[in-house]
Amino acid sequence: MNREAALMSIDHVDARRGSESLRRWRQTQYARRCRSQAWLLDRVGHGRQLTIGQLGALPRPARCGWPLTGVGIRLYEGRAFLHGAQHCASPWACPTCTVLIRGRRAQDLRHAVHWWRQTKDNHRLVFVTLTIPHSKSERLGALIDLAASSWSRMRGSHAWRRLADRTGIRHHVRSMEITWSPTSGWHAHLHVLLFTETMPDAKTLKKSIHVLWAEAVRALDPDRRPVSKRHGVTVEPVTDDGRLVAGYMNKTPDRRDIALEMTRGDRKQGRRKGSLNPFEFLDDGTGIDERTARALWCEYVDSTYRRRTITWSRRLRQDSGLAGMEPTDRQIIDDAIHGLPVINLDPPAYRMLRRSPSIIATALQLVEDGQVPLAETIIGQATTMDNPRS
Ligand SMILES: [Zn+2]
Repeated sequence: MNREAALMSIDHVDARRGSESLRRWRQTQYARRCRSQAWLLDRVGHGRQLTIGQLGALPRPARCGWPLTGVGIRLYEGRAFLHGAQHCASPWACPTCTVLIRGRRAQDLRHAVHWWRQTKDNHRLVFVTLTIPHSKSERLGALIDLAASSWSRMRGSHAWRRLADRTGIRHHVRSMEITWSPTSGWHAHLHVLLFTETMPDAKTLKKSIHVLWAEAVRALDPDRRPVSKRHGVTVEPVTDDGRLVAGYMNKTPDRRDIALEMTRGDRKQGRRKGSLNPFEFLDDGTGIDERTARALWCEYVDSTYRRRTITWSRRLRQDSGLAGMEPTDRQIIDDAIHGLPVINLDPPAYRMLRRSPSIIATALQLVEDGQVPLAETIIGQATTMDNPRS
């Protein structure tokens, strides 16, 4: 085999491996959505048929994927997706919408990061994590409120403005991340990406931010344990190519993409031992019993409803050349829903697909690989098996 042929066959193997892992990934997302919806419906209906009033009162992620009109598979920029169904546009609690929304936020942030690094040689980025001491029994909603309000209080203070002037902080982006662990319960923490004009001394910056953060948390919740001096605030420099180098003393550093680190809390898994990303409540084999997982998931869906995942400082989007206003979660979902109709689905076929994560994943994969007739055959056979009389 000559070199070119060898390279092509490597490409082919990579592409096959890539499409196989995409199929498996989709299957997981659709399986998670099925389970989330079963739990959310069951909470209201207790296994009985729901009334119209009950259906209307369901949280939006419970209705994601319900058919509107003319459901089918479409292809847009090489990616196949189900079209014609409701989208809940939840940036937190929907295994399918969250991915689309956060993917777009990551893209915007990557653009801003690149712009900042390109504009001047001295421009730097600093990644800050802000945490709050918490106990195992605390409710998630209260923790989210406290984290968000403490940040607003700190950022609005004169002391913060003075610090920003002194250290050359010109812009920031803030995001919230939520995890849970059996030993310490819910953990809602903030990531803040600072756009600075020069590289501030990390130790000094950490100390200064710690003073302000601890003060803001104390002002809002005087009875809480004080913010930890060691772990309450961390400050990490971002490399020139937009990455975080975890434990840079290590021989094999884990180089994390800053845009993903800021926006894709939904993707992280088992970073810290025993700590779960809330989507993992929907998976088998996490070691948590189903009743607990179900209660935690429902609490998560309720507590994150209508909360923002990410906020940008004024002018950053405009200055970096991102068009106008920040798109809402709903707009991102609506934008993602163009595409060429490829396969139309009748109601029984669509009902079968909604219940069968592995068949959806396979059908979408086949459409992307150009094997539309095979996708239709598989859908047709599975629908017949699902509805033997039709
Ligand atoms: Zn959704």
